Amino acid sequence: MEITKLERCGVLFYACPDPAWAGAAHGFSTRLGGVSPAPMDSLNLGANRGDDPANVRENFTRFCAAIGADPNALVKNHQIHSSQVRPVTRADVMDCPEAPGTYEADGLITVEPGVCLTIFSGDCIPILLYDPVRRCAAAAHAGWRGTAAKIAAWTAAAMVHNYGCQAKNILAAIGPGIGPCCFETHADVPDGLRSGLGEGAEPFIRPLSREGKFSVDLKGINAYMLQEVGLRPEHIALCSACTACELDTFWSHRVQGSQRGSMAAMIQLL
Ligand SMILES: [Zn+2]
Repeated sequence: MEITKLERCGVLFYACPDPAWAGAAHGFSTRLGGVSPAPMDSLNLGANRGDDPANVRENFTRFCAAIGADPNALVKNHQIHSSQVRPVTRADVMDCPEAPGTYEADGLITVEPGVCLTIFSGDCIPILLYDPVRRCAAAAHAGWRGTAAKIAAWTAAAMVHNYGCQAKNILAAIGPGIGPCCFETHADVPDGLRSGLGEGAEPFIRPLSREGKFSVDLKGINAYMLQEVGLRPEHIALCSACTACELDTFWSHRVQGSQRGSMAAMIQLL
C-alpha cells in the first residue's frame, strides 16, 4: 500500500488512495494551503505556537475540507512523548477546532463515526491506523521517545484487545517525518531505542563516521514494530518524505526550532 501526495481545495496533503481506506477520511497535512503569516506560513494547525486562533480555525476548516473530515468534531491530546493511548467518543470532541488539547496522551482511538482524531508533528512520526472490518480508527504521535515507548504498538494492541480488531485487518499509514537522512543523534537515542525495543531496533540504527553520532530510521522502526504486533507488511504504507529535507513543504523542529507552525494527521470514520 502507498501514501501519495494529493492536492484538493488548494491544500497539499498526503493520504492513502487505496480503496481499502475509503471508509475513513484521513490525511497528513503539509505547510501549504493555509492563511497563517511567517514563520507559520501557511497551514499552521498548532494551537499553541503563537498564531492567531482565527488563523488556526480557518486552517483546520481548509484542511478538513480537503480530506473530507469535520472540523467541528476534533479530538486532540496534549502530547507528552508517552505510550498513553486514549479511548475517545463524541463526548471528548473539542468545543472549537482552535482549542489546544489538554489530556496527556500520544495515542487516540475510537469506534465512533464522525469523531476526528487529530495528532500533531513537526519531525516526529505521525501514524494512522484503520480497521475497515471492525470499523475502528486510531492515531499516534511517535518521536524517538514515543517510538522507544512503543506508542504505535500499544495503539494497535489497544485496537485488538479493547475493541475486538484483528491485527491482520488493521491498515497503517506512517506519515511524513524526519528521515534517516537527517535524524542524526548522539548515543542517547540508540540507547533509548535499544532499551525499549531490544535487538529489533538494531537494523534501524547506523553509526556515522563522526564518533559518537548515529543515524536513526524512526519510520522504519515503527513499521517493524507494527509487524511485530501482527500487522501484515502489505498493509503498512510508509511515506518517504523527510520533514527536515523538504522545508518548502513541511516544518522541521530540528531545523527551525520553535519558529515554525505545526502539521497534523487526522482520521475520522465515515
Ligand atoms: Zn532528510
